Amino acid sequence: MVRFTVLASGSKGNCTVVTGGKTRILVDAGLSCRELFRRMREVDEDPATLDAIIITHEHSDHVAGLAVTARKLGIPVYFTEGTHRAWVRWLSPRKQMTYAQWLEQCRQQAATRMAEADAQTAEDCDPEEAADSEADAEATAPESSDDEISRSSRKKKEPIDPAWLPKVEYFQAGKALQIGDICISPFTIPHDATDPVGFVFQAEGVRMAVATDLGYIPPNVKAQLKGVDLLLLESNHDLEMLRDGPYPWSVKQRVLSRVGHLSNEAAATYLETEYDGQASYVVLGHLSESNNLPELARISAERALSGRASLLANRLLLAAQNEPLSTICF
Ligand SMILES: [Zn+2]
Ligand SMILES: [Zn+2]
Repeated sequence: MVRFTVLASGSKGNCTVVTGGKTRILVDAGLSCRELFRRMREVDEDPATLDAIIITHEHSDHVAGLAVTARKLGIPVYFTEGTHRAWVRWLSPRKQMTYAQWLEQCRQQAATRMAEADAQTAEDCDPEEAADSEADAEATAPESSDDEISRSSRKKKEPIDPAWLPKVEYFQAGKALQIGDICISPFTIPHDATDPVGFVFQAEGVRMAVATDLGYIPPNVKAQLKGVDLLLLESNHDLEMLRDGPYPWSVKQRVLSRVGHLSNEAAATYLETEYDGQASYVVLGHLSESNNLPELARISAERALSGRASLLANRLLLAAQNEPLSTICF
């Protein structure tokens, strides 16, 4: 069974569960660990069965709950090397150490943790316990991570690097990788992060694409989105709402730029003119709460897809910020 569940989508947190065969992957961890687990249970997914976390880029709405979640579950995190470095820098802004020194420190801490884990019960990895004890805002920002360290330090009597993870694996855009039963094609997207990527996940012959956080759709992305069965596409803002909206001009320029976010209009133009119409589901995501309305995004995409002949394909869904989208099954 292949399943795709958007737990959250938007500038306050992004998180999706992709299941194929016996493998379950979390795509981004932009919710607190507690909220992430709560939403997984809400859609009948067991957090303890996650096999890995894979990250699109280091912006906080994609990584806010990453460290806590990965540690609680004891599972590997897949990044590009650039994204991993940027994430480490984000968590350790005041730390003056080279990357090599940091890796050595991680190795030492990992050894210490392993020794501790042998001595301890499994309670630290118990998602139930995690959900109960996790503060909601934990690890949503470097400051709260510091808070986590201080509390953990009190408990364990030694400092823990805020960027410590049970296991880190690197991948590169343009090079497919396999995690269990799921094949993943990462591709570069134009966005103002260090090394941002979108993904095509393939399992049991089903292809599912995640393409959010991109200023426009360049040819390499168009090529990746061909022949997918599910397309999660950004429909971030309505151009007029953004222009007239509350953001400072500098932020408006950033959102509108070639490395910002995809507008309803740009998404619709792609769906109308370049999209191959093959997907069973088109899911609009990363909608701005300040500069968009779900109805505007829907109408714009509906209009763009109206010429598509098949009634069975191109079912249009909207992913939301505050609640999970019902699981899509293939
Ligand atoms: Zn984002
Ligand atoms: Zn972003």
